[in-house]
Amino acid sequence: MKGWIDEDYTRKGILSFRTSVSPYRCQLCGYVYLGRSRPDKCPHCGADETELRSPVDYMEIKPVRFLTDVEYRDLVETMRLEAVGEMFYRECEDVFEGKDTYYESIFRRLARHEDEHIDVVEDALDMDKDDVLDEVDEIEVPDTVGEILDIVVDLEMEAIMKYTKFFRRTDKERLKYIYECLIDVETEHKHLAVWNIGAIR
Ligand SMILES: [Zn+2]
Repeated sequence: MKGWIDEDYTRKGILSFRTSVSPYRCQLCGYVYLGRSRPDKCPHCGADETELRSPVDYMEIKPVRFLTDVEYRDLVETMRLEAVGEMFYRECEDVFEGKDTYYESIFRRLARHEDEHIDVVEDALDMDKDDVLDEVDEIEVPDTVGEILDIVVDLEMEAIMKYTKFFRRTDKERLKYIYECLIDVETEHKHLAVWNIGAIR
């Protein structure tokens, strides 16, 4: 409790604070958010606000059982794509750090989302990333913002296309749900890159 309640709150103040704040929990990544209103996206994984559930509606996230070989391979490929993206965005964040806060914050956000998506897949598989993936190919960061944004578009497009295919060939509810949410988030990432390409050219 300490830390997010102002020390000067009177008893009455604390009561009114408690009643005006509600917890929300992300059905994709499990993140718990406490706020006066529902944020428009999960601050952690980027899932749409409709995935932020009240505790009553939230369903405990469990590993997905009885995966077919195809479903397993699709999850591993999902993890690989997210890991490649996460590494690239982390590098980009470093490049812009202290030089351009706008792009620094964009890439920090993208890296955080992809990192969280890796956790989502780990939970579905009930396996650790390091036990699933070998070395992941690193993408070199080009010199210009335009070239960097082009790579973002390519990465996100590849992910969206593959997740759409993975979505279609599973009948497991949780997997369909994961791919659907990821497609939404990656589409938003792609739009962000396209919008910025438009703004600089
Ligand atoms: Zn989330």
